[in-house]
Amino acid sequence: MTCISCPRPSSDRYWDERLETQSRTDWQALQLRLLREHLLHAYLNSPYYGASFDRAGVHPDQLRSLDDVRRFPFISKQELRERQLAVPPFGDLVAVPEREIVYISASSGSTGVPTASPFTGQDFEDWIDYQARQFWSSGLRPEDRYAHSLNFSLFVGGPCVLGAQKLGALSMHVGTVPAERLLAILKQFQATVIWTTPSYAWYLGETALKEGIDPRQDLNVRRILVAGEPGGSIPETRERIEGLWGASVYDYYGLSDIFGACAGMCEVKHGLHWAEDHILVEVLDPDGGDPVPEGGRGELVLTTLRKAARPMIRFRTGDIVSFTSEPCSCGRTSVRLLGVHGRLDDMLIIKGVNLFPSDVEAIARKDRDFGGEYRLVVDREDHLDRLTVEVERSSAYRGSIEELASRFKRQLQSVTGVSAAVTILSPETLPRATHKAKRVDDRRGGVWG
Ligand SMILES: [Zn+2]
Repeated sequence: MTCISCPRPSSDRYWDERLETQSRTDWQALQLRLLREHLLHAYLNSPYYGASFDRAGVHPDQLRSLDDVRRFPFISKQELRERQLAVPPFGDLVAVPEREIVYISASSGSTGVPTASPFTGQDFEDWIDYQARQFWSSGLRPEDRYAHSLNFSLFVGGPCVLGAQKLGALSMHVGTVPAERLLAILKQFQATVIWTTPSYAWYLGETALKEGIDPRQDLNVRRILVAGEPGGSIPETRERIEGLWGASVYDYYGLSDIFGACAGMCEVKHGLHWAEDHILVEVLDPDGGDPVPEGGRGELVLTTLRKAARPMIRFRTGDIVSFTSEPCSCGRTSVRLLGVHGRLDDMLIIKGVNLFPSDVEAIARKDRDFGGEYRLVVDREDHLDRLTVEVERSSAYRGSIEELASRFKRQLQSVTGVSAAVTILSPETLPRATHKAKRVDDRRGGVWG
């Protein structure tokens, strides 16, 4: 019997070959058509956007090219929260009657009130179809056994499992369980694919070895999808996780305020293919708001193209990223996210130089004399910022600690231009992350502290 909710992909290589391999001109024409309809939907049906566009003196009819999106006002996470508090429970960005909303996710709220992200039935279907397409591009097939070990509690990453189910993989809704339990599940059911955070993939591999399980020999995991931290796009981190597991690591990027994964790696693993039929990308200079040249680092600003329940027009994510529109050797033509270099609020400025934890991570993981775990401690002495990088040595290293510290210091200086004190720690000194690792300990207090 044919499963009508499980459409077959259009070829063995692509989920939707015509869409995924169309020319850049066709992508742009598609985005312009969708954007025009979406802006009009937002303007007519969302009280917030109606007022905000009027205030800015812009109308959806003025959109002639994709560049014209820059005439429309930004929205920040802070404003999103304020609108939700002003018009409870979901805010006045919502552009459909509540009876059409079938699902909400909520962001973790670590910096304030959690914000809800509502979906209509069609929004949800679109999202899961996109997830299936993305999983397919990372090599998942109906023969796979997929263990989804992300949080299900209002977290937008939870339902992504339905994408694996849609493409026909045997899907296990595992959720976040203790490492020992997860290892037992992977072993018993011989899962071939898992999805977790990069630091947890690392921790899980180390825990397995301690329990006498060699992930390369005793488990059947051949692909690891990761998201939630920059590590999956740092080749040095990816390669070390791959070495630990004997599996291939694919990075994904998602955002609760938009939908699950907005981008993911294909099997070529050079950048993350973006869901351009759902989301328009801008990469802007955080100071002036001008677009940065292709390949340069800037703030990611996102505009939904179809999400009817709550359009997001020019949402400032606070993530510092870089992109390319060069064609990928897999044949897909969507733009690729080359890396999330950090968050604007994670960015440290040390004596005037911008520094992201991901820059330090690449060094800590490339040289095998280091254990891979690290932490940045920043304090202030005599009104000057002082950075100390704490990095673990590998358990196999038998050489001089002083030499190791000065090696790290030299590499950090040459890669980032930042000069720091380096403390070498014994293996397993730093706390292991079970979800997202905390990499920065900023003890400077307020600006005038
Ligand atoms: Zn590709």
